[in-house]
Amino acid sequence: MRITLRAKDAGDAQRIVNEVAQILEGAQKMEGPPPIPTRFKAACEFCGYDLDTRKEGVHQWTAGWVMQREGGGGHGISLAKRENRWAHRHCVDRASRGFAHQERMF
Ligand SMILES: [Zn+2]
Repeated sequence: MRITLRAKDAGDAQRIVNEVAQILEGAQKMEGPPPIPTRFKAACEFCGYDLDTRKEGVHQWTAGWVMQREGGGGHGISLAKRENRWAHRHCVDRASRGFAHQERMF
């Protein structure tokens, strides 16, 4: 794409440059979702992409005590210990169905 601008003088040229810069800056700001604040940002253990730990559906790794039921199966988690490990909901769903792609896992 080529844009030709005609400025009357140096001051006019500067004004045009500033206007174009503002338009470009605005266009860049509209691209993609807003950045995630650092304290809420984590990498998904499955796909490696950033996720927002405040978002509904995001999964956090948890360890704890599970009471065995008669005939197998667990019964909730007592004394759950949450760790700083995170994953997207869809990535956990995929992994639990056996379609894990962990090539980007650290
Ligand atoms: Zn993911």
